[in-house]
Amino acid sequence: MKISELLKKDTLSLSFEVFPPKTETAFESVKTATEEIAKLKPSFMSVTYGAGGGTSKYTLNIAKNIKELYGVPTLAHLTCVSSSKDMVHQKIEEIKAAGITNVMALRGDIPAHLEDADRSGWDYQHAVDLIYELKKADTDFCIGGACYPEIHPESPNQKEDIKHLKEKVDAGCDFLTTQMFFDNNLLYNFLYKIREAGITVPIIPGIMPITNANQVERSIKLSGSFMPQRFKCLVDKFGSDPAAMKQAGIAYATDQIIDLYANGITNIHVYSMNKPDVARKIQGNLSDILGK
Ligand code: FAD
Repeated sequence: MKISELLKKDTLSLSFEVFPPKTETAFESVKTATEEIAKLKPSFMSVTYGAGGGTSKYTLNIAKNIKELYGVPTLAHLTCVSSSKDMVHQKIEEIKAAGITNVMALRGDIPAHLEDADRSGWDYQHAVDLIYELKKADTDFCIGGACYPEIHPESPNQKEDIKHLKEKVDAGCDFLTTQMFFDNNLLYNFLYKIREAGITVPIIPGIMPITNANQVERSIKLSGSFMPQRFKCLVDKFGSDPAAMKQAGIAYATDQIIDLYANGITNIHVYSMNKPDVARKIQGNLSDILGK
């Protein structure tokens, strides 16, 4: 099932994200966690991809398993940074062979050891290059792209960032999923600006439930997201009590989702991070709204 079709629903639906194991030994436990999440029957599940290919072989394994065992549509992420054309072509063939039609086309973060490297000779500079490649390989792919309500960290300004976002959409992105954010007003402001720039594809807000205090620093460093005072207070109050922090983080994410839905957004992606209990609790908190 194509995600672009699923996004036409006008009632609230949740999708969940999982990530593949980094090692063979962790494979079984990750597989079990992703299956537990699949049993919740989300609208779809996305499986991330290690930029540079580190965990790449497991992405398709996990995505195929969820789709075939639980009938949950899957979105396989793929990055292109520092990859050769041959590597990307091979991955695209593997995606097709696995029967996966939804692909999240990403550049990926520049690996730290290559930050100062001369990138001019790389086969892929930006996600848009991968989108062209996917379209060339199979016009039937449903393609997602990433977007940044608080601006991509490498962008000089929002205008420039939105200009390049429009290029991705014009190249064939069917929908966009946002980076995490903790203040919904930032999302509403972003939506206004991208619609004004002529980007009309569906936007799926990405919500990250923060369930422990260590995650706060890690997530902010990775995403550069703004932490509202309301969220900081919550971390100050509950950060040293793991059970309370988890409950408060899930409540905060639930509240964000309810506000988004009340403001007309129907499809929301939850960065559930291989945590079935977190996915289950968020879904449970919304059971009457979701009709589940
Ligand atoms: P791009 O769209 O290429 O943008 C990167 C930067 O380049 C931006 O600043 C953009 O404005 C600029 N740019 C784009 N085109 C041009 C151009 N023609 N000229 C000049 N500048 C340009 N990472 C992973 O490794 N694996 C994952 O599975 C993964 N999943 C993600 C899912 C989501 C929803 C999000 C939001 C991020 C994800 N990431 C993942 C992180 C992502 O790879 C990084 O944020 C990366 O730095 C940018 O990827 P992109 O696809 O947005 O890049």
